[in-house]
Amino acid sequence: MGERRLLYSENVILDAIEAKKRGGELSAEVIREVVGGYTSGGVPDYQMSALLMAIFIRGMDYEETLALTEAMADSGARHSFPECVDKHSTGGVGDKISLTSLPVVAACGAPVAKLSGRGLGTTGGTIDKLESIPGFSFDLSEERMQKQVQEVGLAITEAGDLAPADRAIYALRDTTGTVDSLPLIGSSIVSKKVATGAGYLLYDVKSGSGAFMKTTDEARELAELLVHLSESLGIKASALITAMDEPLGSAVGNALEIRESVSFLRGEDSPADLSEKARVVAAQLLRLKGIPSPEGVVEETISSGAAYEKFARFVSAQGGDPQTLEDLPVSKEVREIVTPKAGYVARFGALGVGRAALLLGAGREKKGDKVDPGVGVEVLVKAGDEVEEGQLVARLYGDRNVERAEELVLKALEISETPVERPPVILGDS
Ligand code: URA
Repeated sequence: MGERRLLYSENVILDAIEAKKRGGELSAEVIREVVGGYTSGGVPDYQMSALLMAIFIRGMDYEETLALTEAMADSGARHSFPECVDKHSTGGVGDKISLTSLPVVAACGAPVAKLSGRGLGTTGGTIDKLESIPGFSFDLSEERMQKQVQEVGLAITEAGDLAPADRAIYALRDTTGTVDSLPLIGSSIVSKKVATGAGYLLYDVKSGSGAFMKTTDEARELAELLVHLSESLGIKASALITAMDEPLGSAVGNALEIRESVSFLRGEDSPADLSEKARVVAAQLLRLKGIPSPEGVVEETISSGAAYEKFARFVSAQGGDPQTLEDLPVSKEVREIVTPKAGYVARFGALGVGRAALLLGAGREKKGDKVDPGVGVEVLVKAGDEVEEGQLVARLYGDRNVERAEELVLKALEISETPVERPPVILGDS
């Protein structure tokens, strides 16, 4: 029986490779068979790699992309949180928008059930950030998650056994040069979100030098695909296209980012870009849920302390100690960086700062690397700011590779002799 299935998969995959190599279309049945065959081990890596490369070169039309999304979503458990909102970010440096906007949304009465990931490369993951809170755990069964959503209004879990086909295919893409294909990215992201089961989804698609999508046009194309796929699969969705040329906010690194998020949720002074974007995302999620003109209630939950209270309850429900949020430990090894020249900041490049944080130990270069929660970078100036020679512009936390990290941070700081306009945070929507 097992052998017959293996032979059948081999024929299907060979036919699929031949068809796609010549630019043909794959039917939904063939896509489902190939995805099932690869996930169960019947289709070997070398054949799946050949098919992925054919898809990378020839592309897939919308119907094929939708079929791939559904097949990957159905490859493992599927949760159901039809009343809940969720958001997805395509990844950026210092991106703490889930940590800042979702407690606000939950405090406004819209329940949140979110699937998060770990960081890879210069992109930080919400899971790593929350794990810098002592005791915090993502080990939630669906039942426990349902209960937490009802009682607290906010629960965050790790992908775990959701969309296992995507996990396997993504790992193969990572080693075969087939990551940057629009239909493969779109189906990968949406399959995990469909499996999480939230009924309302906001995509935050980053554009810029520190993002996957370097131009606004590329980001818009991905945003439109994500929204279209989600809507076809019964999720009410929209997307924002946002800037990722500089780190978001000041902090880059796990505990540092939790500290900055806590300050925002308490209504304390926060960097302007973070403050604006967290509010826009929260309001957009509430609009998706049918709450008209939500800006007033967003302000109210922040200024009243309700947003912070919600975050503290969420931390406690997932095993963390909310008392530690008052003063989460960070590395005592601090190096101050000053600018060698005066002028106007043209850009504090996200990629360079992200790489510096990675070298200090805040992220992982490859899957499975251990992150150090207390290290990272704080950027103290942004594009448009005027600086004097010798002014403090950044702090490095941690002592691993600190010389190289300093070089990267100094190189990331671009100074112009003429005034620079502050760039927009939100570039568009879809
Ligand atoms: N993130 C994902 O989840 N999948 C991709 O293919 C790319 C980014």
